[in-house]
Amino acid sequence: MAIAEANSQQQEKASSEASAVEKKRWTLSDFDIGKPLGRGKFGHVYLAREKRSNHIVALKVLFKSQLQQSQVEHQLRREVEIQSHLRHPNILRLYGYFYDQKRVYLILEYAAKGELYKELQKCKYFSERRAATYVASLARALIYCHGKHVIHRDIKPENLLIGAQRHDASVDIWSLGVLCYEFLYGLPPFEAKEHSDTYRRIVQVDLKFPPKPIVSSAAKDLISQMLVKDSSERLPLHKLLEHPWIVQNADPSGIYRA
Ligand code: AMP
Repeated sequence: MAIAEANSQQQEKASSEASAVEKKRWTLSDFDIGKPLGRGKFGHVYLAREKRSNHIVALKVLFKSQLQQSQVEHQLRREVEIQSHLRHPNILRLYGYFYDQKRVYLILEYAAKGELYKELQKCKYFSERRAATYVASLARALIYCHGKHVIHRDIKPENLLIGAQRHDASVDIWSLGVLCYEFLYGLPPFEAKEHSDTYRRIVQVDLKFPPKPIVSSAAKDLISQMLVKDSSERLPLHKLLEHPWIVQNADPSGIYRA
């Protein structure tokens, strides 16, 4: 009994030492800070290099005062907790975090090619091959998240307007449908001049496909099966991956090559 206890104490010590190595306490002095990558609502993102490993990361710097003012500390804590446990090739890694008196720092995987939306703006709209590759990659990431009971609930006005009921995972299918439309047409599906008209169009699922750019009927069929008001009627993500438009257009590697 005593031996067993001693063993388990040793094991505990060893495992806490191991996790101390894994859960290294980071400080700003562990990083060389490089160029700014962008600005968000609560702070700035910088390219950074971890000095010991030379590993390149993106360091997101959030100001505590701004987080407190907007009362999002709890939300940030939840997001950090969730994101640090996700491991999927299509989901940006959160390696760790640290803080000082004024700021919170998130150590993120560096996305070297930047924002997809900038690409979309540059090209106006994507080819079907490119759109299908992204949609399939996102669907795989979402299937992984849903398996862990994590719902993305992308915080966009379009999505927040869908109603006040509690969401289930199919809210992400809707968002993916909106995104797929935007990839192919370069504009979101329910846009209107007035906010109230956008709202009405969303509620009525007033889905229209403009004549230009030319989009295949298979793509339109997929979008129509995702943008369905009744969430239980939306095409499940695993079925999306089997849809002919995805099968024929998406690059199986999940990477778009021009
Ligand atoms: P955010 O506060 O997350 O909206 O980030 C602000 C901006 O910083 C983004 O729009 C990106 O341009 C850039 N950014 C954020 N995270 C990363 C990252 N991991 N890798 C590269 N750029 C990033």
